[in-house]
Amino acid sequence: MRLGSGCDECKILMERYHADLRVYIDATVVLDDSVFGLKFDKAWADATRARQRFEQAREEVNRHIADHGST
Ligand SMILES: [Zn+2]
Repeated sequence: MRLGSGCDECKILMERYHADLRVYIDATVVLDDSVFGLKFDKAWADATRARQRFEQAREEVNRHIADHGST
């Protein structure tokens, strides 16, 4: 993805996007390892929260890019 270089907000939003994505990926790895019981419930809750944060970060990036009208 190419983004307007020189836009500080793009940089900040993209950093958050990648950080949230990494947290989400880590959470799914834990989920993959937890098959049963409480460990799964906690891993599922963590992965769900991480996914919501990631989706929110993605939305913010998209909204911001739409605001400046170019990539
Ligand atoms: Zn920007």
